Amino acid sequence: MILVLLGAPGTGKGTISRIISEKYNIPCVSTGEMLRKTEDLTEEARDLLSKGELLPDSVINDLLVKRISKEDCANGFILDGYPRTISQAESLDELLKGLNKNIAAAVHLDAPIETIYRRILSRQECVNCRATYSKDTPTKVEGICDKCGSEVKVRMDDNKEALDNRMEVYEKKTKPIIEYYKKQNLLRVVDSSKNPEYAMMKFEEFANDLH
Ligand code: ADP
Repeated sequence: MILVLLGAPGTGKGTISRIISEKYNIPCVSTGEMLRKTEDLTEEARDLLSKGELLPDSVINDLLVKRISKEDCANGFILDGYPRTISQAESLDELLKGLNKNIAAAVHLDAPIETIYRRILSRQECVNCRATYSKDTPTKVEGICDKCGSEVKVRMDDNKEALDNRMEVYEKKTKPIIEYYKKQNLLRVVDSSKNPEYAMMKFEEFANDLH
C-alpha cells in the first residue's frame, strides 16, 4: 500500500505516519526527517531548511528515488512531506508508473490554522527517535522523550518567522496538490484538529478499502 500524506505543517503527518507504519508494517518515508538527519547538508540547503523554504525538486527527487528503491519499501510505504509541488507529484506518478505501482490514497490531514500555530510553536522533537511532542501531546517528563528517553529539542524551523514562511509556501506550492489528487479520485480528508487517536479513527473508516 502506497499512501501520500498531505497537509500543512503541524497537521500531524509525522505522528500519523508513524502510527500507520507500525500498524500496517510499511515504512514512513519523510523527506523532511531525511534532510534533518543528513549530516553533510550543504550550507545552502541548511539555510533553506531553517527559513522554511523548499529545497530544489531535483535534490528531493533523487533523495526519494534512492529511499523507495530500498528493499523495505517493496510492499508499500507512507510518504510524509513528499510530494510538495505539482512537479514533484508528476515525478512521483512517472516513477511509480515505471515500477508498475499505484498510490492507494492521498490523505489530507486537515486542521485549523490556530491549531497549527499552537502546536508548532510549542513543538519539541526527540533528537534520537524523532517523536514529536507539543502542548496537545506533552512528554511525561519535561525535556525527555517518552519513547526512548533521549533529549527533546525545538526544531530549527519551528519558530514564528520560519512558520509564517512555511505556511505561505504551503498555500502557494503544496495546496494545489490536493486538487491534483482529487481529480485522480485518490483524495481522502481526515480531521486532524483533535488528537492522533481521533485522526486514526477517521483514517480507519476508509483504510480497509485501500490496497
Ligand atoms: P513540515 O513540518 O513543514 O511539514 P517537513 O519536516 O516535512 O516539515 O519538512 C521540513 C523542511 O524540509 C521543509 O520546510 C523544506 O525545507 C524541506 N523539505 C522537506 N520535504 C521537501 C520536499 N518534498 N520538497 C522540498 N523541500 C522539502
